[in-house]
Order: sequence, then C-alpha cells, then structure tokens
Amino acid sequence: MGGASVSANGGIQVELGRTRYILDPHSQVRADFTFVSHAHLDHMHAPSKNERIIASELTTELARARGYDLGKTIENAEGVELLDSGHILGSRAIRIQDEVYYTGDASGRPRAFLGKCRTRGARILVMETTYGVPEYVFPPTAKLVKEVNALIASAYDRGVPVVLMGYPLGKAQLLSYYFSSWDPMFYHESVETMNRIHIEHGVPLKPGRRFEPSKDQGRLPHGPWVLVSPMSSGRSRLMAHLKKEYGAILVAFSGWALGPGYRYTMGADYSFPLSDHCDYQELINLVQAVSPEMVYTVHGFAAEFARDLRKMGFSARPLAPYQSSLGDFQEA
Ligand SMILES: [Zn+2]
Repeated sequence: MGGASVSANGGIQVELGRTRYILDPHSQVRADFTFVSHAHLDHMHAPSKNERIIASELTTELARARGYDLGKTIENAEGVELLDSGHILGSRAIRIQDEVYYTGDASGRPRAFLGKCRTRGARILVMETTYGVPEYVFPPTAKLVKEVNALIASAYDRGVPVVLMGYPLGKAQLLSYYFSSWDPMFYHESVETMNRIHIEHGVPLKPGRRFEPSKDQGRLPHGPWVLVSPMSSGRSRLMAHLKKEYGAILVAFSGWALGPGYRYTMGADYSFPLSDHCDYQELINLVQAVSPEMVYTVHGFAAEFARDLRKMGFSARPLAPYQSSLGDFQEA
C-alpha cells in the first residue's frame, strides 16, 4: 500500500489506500469519512445521508446548540486518532495512521480550562497557519490578564462599565473565566448559551445575567459592570448605544490586535492579543514536534509560513485553493 496523498477538494482531501477522508469540508464531497475539527461556524457542515462524520462529542453538541445537526458522529474509526487541539472546547486534531496529522485550528499554549495542542509524529503534516509570520508572537497570557484587570479596576473606580468582546464560542468563555471576579457580570445571549454548555461539562464559569439586546437595551444599570459580548464594531448600533448611554469602554480581544490599525478598525477603545491560535513561534514548535517529511499549510499566512519552513529545510507548501477568509466578525 502506498502512502497517503493530500489535496484540496472542497476541503482537505486525504487518500490512503482505498479510503478517502475529507477534513473540514466547505462543500459536499464524496468520501468514506468526513472530519469536523470543531464547532466554529466556518467549519460547520451539513451531512448528507449515510455520511460518516468523525467529530468529538462536544463538537457535535456545540454544533447542535448553534443550529447545525451533524447527525450521528463517531469519535473512533480504524486507524484514526483524535487529539486535543486546544483551540476551543471539543476541538480536535486528527491523525490518520502515522501518515497524516491535521491540526484543525490549534493553540500552542494552555489557557484557563483549555490545554495546548497535542502532537504526534506523522509523515505529512497539514497545519493551520493563521498567524504564520514572525510579527505575531503573543505575550504571556498571565501578563495580559493582569493588564486587563488593571484596566477594569480603573474603570470601576470611575463608575464606568466595560464591554469585553470576543467571538461567542471560545474567546468569550475565556473572558468569562479570566474576569469572573468582577460584579455585576452580564453575558450577551449568544455568549450565555455557549457558557451554559461549558458549565454542563464542568468548566467553572460564573453564572451571570443574560443580556438580550432586543429586550434589554435600555435596561442595564448605570454604574460599573462587565458585559462579555461577541466581537462587534464600536460603530455598530448596540456598541454605539452602550457607549452613549452608559459611557462604556470597549475592549476587543484577538490575535490580530498585534497588527497595525486593529483597534481603530474595530472602533474599540482598547485591544489585547488574546488568541485561540498558535503564534508564529508555536507554529514552528508544532512542526518540530511532528517532524514531518512534508508540510501543507492552510489559512492566513500560508504561503509566508511555508516559505519560512523551506528555509529551515522542510518540504512545505500552501494547500493553495483551500483558503478561508478570516475576519473579526467571523469566527475562525
Ligand atoms: Zn476555529
């Protein structure tokens, strides 16, 4: 039996022997197995009849809570191993025999209740490279949390509320966890729904008050509070209202905060580079840990990172047609 081959075909297609796998498809492709790495919306998938979907139980449950029925999923298939990728609750990397290791979206550091991406050796590595240029090396998370707590403390001293913004699945739970000492704590409805599933699975998030903008817009208290909210432009209707009516300070959390002009683009008052992806150095570490013969890069700075790997002596190239657009209003 020959080795695996990897190509882009409506997703990441792996052919090994007589078996075809499609990893994180964005269209319908015939395959023996379909792998869904995690429950972010850009990875959601509508299964066709009889499609065999590999996903963690948590991903299946989170997807269902967001209106995507993955059907009956399996966590085990012959020759396949799922490994925690550390990106969000339930996110997994997949290893197919010792031939292919695909990271899905992955984080290179433990955060709160999340571990870091686990790696195993494989001949071919397919990896996400969202932050695959050297400008993106994130500061220690503890330092960032300390800075944000100081910012909130100074706002509370002045009686000013604070809105913490990050995408509703993943980032928002980290924000809910790290900044749980503040009171009162409000959660935007989309965040609160995801928080509840985390709590059911043993993640110690503080129950807060559910904020439904359509009902509650005028009914937040005056004075200091913290609201955990999905990422939204400071110029959006809701955020403009919270600024005008309550004098709220808007704080955005994203790895892109290290880039130029991020805060201005988002219309936020402050921004911090808290990310659920590997930074540049962590991507390099990941490649070294897997020690592959061949690397395919997907997402973000895929061409740039592959070029840097080639300079280091690896065989590497972007899986070019497989690119998704990354925006801050969109989960990734
Ligand atoms: Zn993601």
